Amino acid sequence: MIWDMFIIDSSYCKNRITNLGNGIKLYCDEHNGKFPQATKWCDTLLSDPNFYITKETFHCLDVEDDLSGYAMNKNLNGKTWNEVDPNTIILFESIPGWNQNGGPNLIRFNKHSFPFGAKKFNVLCKGSDAPKFMTISRSKVSNLRWEP
Ligand SMILES: [Zn+2]
Repeated sequence: MIWDMFIIDSSYCKNRITNLGNGIKLYCDEHNGKFPQATKWCDTLLSDPNFYITKETFHCLDVEDDLSGYAMNKNLNGKTWNEVDPNTIILFESIPGWNQNGGPNLIRFNKHSFPFGAKKFNVLCKGSDAPKFMTISRSKVSNLRWEP
């Protein structure tokens, strides 16, 4: 049924952005807490099998083969995991690209929101212990924290 499809779609998306965030956390753990360089974060996550990332992990559903449907918050450049606020965005659904990084101007409202037609997108915040997944509606975009 069509409702099931939306729920499955959004759980794929949730799993993928969460896996990417976990990969970033693993990278930080191995590099004295330092975040990967935003300009090559996709290549960096693919470069080490210990991060459990494949090209497919970057795909939000309607995103083309060699692109990523997620972007990294560029304000994390040069920062370390522990100095960043738990509410700061790490990754967000974005205009497709590769090594895409930036801020709110790249937000892409997805097609798998529930209910259909709702303007929502998925983000991953740093969280306290592990990255924290959230679905954000358009009216709440201004509440997001982009500063580290
Ligand atoms: Zn998605």
